[in-house]
Amino acid sequence: MSRTDPDAGYMYRDQKPEGFFWLAHRTVDAKHNFIVDVHVTPGNVSDSTVYVARLEHILGRFAFPLEAVALDAGYFTTEIAKALVERGVFGVIARRRFGGKKGMYRRTSFNYVSEEDVYVCPAKQRLTYRTTDRHGYRHYASDPAICQNCPLLEKCTSNR
Ligand code: SF4
Repeated sequence: MSRTDPDAGYMYRDQKPEGFFWLAHRTVDAKHNFIVDVHVTPGNVSDSTVYVARLEHILGRFAFPLEAVALDAGYFTTEIAKALVERGVFGVIARRRFGGKKGMYRRTSFNYVSEEDVYVCPAKQRLTYRTTDRHGYRHYASDPAICQNCPLLEKCTSNR
């Protein structure tokens, strides 16, 4: 917690400065470049968590129909996609790219087998479905007993 600004949030994101910050979540009208909404939160609040409430606010605030929105990859969640569909708003959301760390396996190194709903890792272990998180991402888990002795472990994960 910041001693000088205890309400600020500690931000830790790729390619952003690290430290205590505030965030201004802005929505801009694409036709005229008017800022139609600004919502300030502590810097550790993720953009996607406030979006649906901002969408609701904008829809209630202005008389014009909202046809479409363009969002960056940080907003690519099932909750937002569902909210847009339910409100009849066409959403264009950038695709998330999971680049991974240099020298490490990427997600594409794991092959999905739809018939069995498993991922096959580079060492041919089958990773089984574990859970779906609140953002809609499905998690598949390996067997730690196998991974512990895997010669590819260092390229696979930093997790022991
Ligand atoms: S550590 Fe080895 S066995 Fe475990 S998931 Fe990675 S590649 Fe597969």
